[in-house]
Amino acid sequence: MLMCKDLAAIASDYIDGELPVLQKMSVRMHLMMCRHCRTFIGNLRASSNLLSAHSSGKADEEFLRRIDERVAEALLSVRKNKDSDSE
Ligand SMILES: [Zn+2]
Repeated sequence: MLMCKDLAAIASDYIDGELPVLQKMSVRMHLMMCRHCRTFIGNLRASSNLLSAHSSGKADEEFLRRIDERVAEALLSVRKNKDSDSE
């Protein structure tokens, strides 16, 4: 079974569609059961969409830094919630 930290490690590959089918399926199963990771993936995907929309020209550093912060925040909230929410 995929754990939250495993999902966080492969989340960007999942969003880019670069995971093998089996791994992709375990991510989907985890997402069905874990709302924290759904939020995480949602944030990451939003960031990644923003990024590709923005990168038609040049990506400025301020923008990239903000994306990093969002991803870091999402990661932190996944870790924080993992321990208290073990149903
Ligand atoms: Zn999770």
